[in-house]
Amino acid sequence: MSSASNFIYPRNGVPHSKSKVNSAPNPDVQISRVKINNAVVKSMENLTEDTYRVVVKCNDNALPFNSHAGQYATLKVEGLKKPRAFSFAKSPKSENKNEYSFFIRQVPGGEFSAWLDKNRTGENIIISAPLGTFKIDDSSDDMICIAGGSGMSAVNSIVEEAVHLKVKRNCYFFYGARTQKDLYLVKELSELSKVWSKGYKFEFIPVLSEEPENSDWKGARGFVTDHFKKEYLEKGIVSADSCKAFFCGPPPMIDAGAKVLAEAGVSEKSMFFDKFEDARSPAPVIDNSKCILCDECLLVKPTKGCIVETSKLGKIKDNGKYADIQRIDPAYTSGLYYNTLYIDEDECIRCYACVHACPAKAISPEYELEPKTLRDMVES
Ligand SMILES: Cc1cc2nc3c(=O)[nH]c(=O)nc-3n(C[C@H](O)[C@H](O)[C@H](O)COP(=O)(O)OP(=O)(O)OC[C@H]3O[C@@H](n4cnc5c(N)ncnc54)[C@H](O)[C@@H]3O)c2cc1C
Ligand code: SF4
Ligand code: SF4
Repeated sequence: MSSASNFIYPRNGVPHSKSKVNSAPNPDVQISRVKINNAVVKSMENLTEDTYRVVVKCNDNALPFNSHAGQYATLKVEGLKKPRAFSFAKSPKSENKNEYSFFIRQVPGGEFSAWLDKNRTGENIIISAPLGTFKIDDSSDDMICIAGGSGMSAVNSIVEEAVHLKVKRNCYFFYGARTQKDLYLVKELSELSKVWSKGYKFEFIPVLSEEPENSDWKGARGFVTDHFKKEYLEKGIVSADSCKAFFCGPPPMIDAGAKVLAEAGVSEKSMFFDKFEDARSPAPVIDNSKCILCDECLLVKPTKGCIVETSKLGKIKDNGKYADIQRIDPAYTSGLYYNTLYIDEDECIRCYACVHACPAKAISPEYELEPKTLRDMVES
């Protein structure tokens, strides 16, 4: 397992204070704004057949992540080449010191998912955080929370945070699952109404899409977004003018939810979401003409090679890969500086941390551009 430390590294790859300071830069050091801590799996338990609650405990001397509810971490385990992104499942205010809970759902054919086939309690893990911008807003509008599958994690942390903040606003939490056996935290969430601010409503509404017709299920059926639209929006329980939406889960569910809300007149600014992308999702692309060379994406990237700093891309080979990329490694190459960033999709874990971190909106999975060097851009 590669080593981790509590220190944040500046661009020359030499750690700040306390640790052994080598005069020579270390090319293996990940220069990062994100804190990287050694941890162990404190516990692992089934929430459903394919979803686990995994609690990770950092060493006692670990630096706190200072994350806010809704953010995520990357977890790296021995034997897997790349880390994976997972949302914090609890508000930081509800966690024990140095502990972080995750709800992780197994994906068929997934590498991290296969790692979960065995109980990993006591095993080492490297946790890097905080990442992402998903969070509760400070308005008094109704909160519409929509989660599917393991999207429960980030939305649960948002809702817990709302309880801690004693928000004075209504909250409707819709949870989409296939059948009753895919439901979890139902009792805990249903009981939140008892601790919600007096005079305001908290409702937890599970919606099942594949529950057998003849079962004993008395709750809502169908697709979670359809139920929300038909029973809450169209009946005027929730108004598009005075709500904020928090979505988390599989990308198709988020797209469907965003469409319903947009059609009802909810503005994009009132929708907050984290899509749980995975290896099947597109890697983001960097539009270097928008890039202001601020380094923010480089300071949050979870793998050393996912964003390549270069001043030369070379020619595109037949297989769509760039040949002869001149890598600029700030830990190695003093005097040289990148002027083009390129995402290597084989190294990218689709965590979208760079997308969230970029202040210039220069990174998007929707861009279909060929990266260009500064010289190419000037000459074209
Ligand atoms: C911001 C964010 C937060 C997230 N939070 C959570 C969370 O809280 N809980 C949670 O459970 N998940 C979360 N995820 C998803 C998580 O990061 C993983 O992607 C997911 O757990 C699958 O990882 P895996 O290693 O099991 O699968 P992977 O090995 O990454 O594979 C995923 C799927 O893609 C297929 N696949 C693999 N390689 C390829 C390829 N080259 N081409 C096509 N298909 C391929 C696999 O067969 C599998 O079906 C989050 C993702 C993001 C981006
Ligand atoms: S390129 Fe961006 S989305 Fe891909 S792994 Fe790096 S930071 Fe994450
Ligand atoms: S975060 Fe955006 S603007 Fe900054 S270096 Fe990366 S791509 Fe360029």
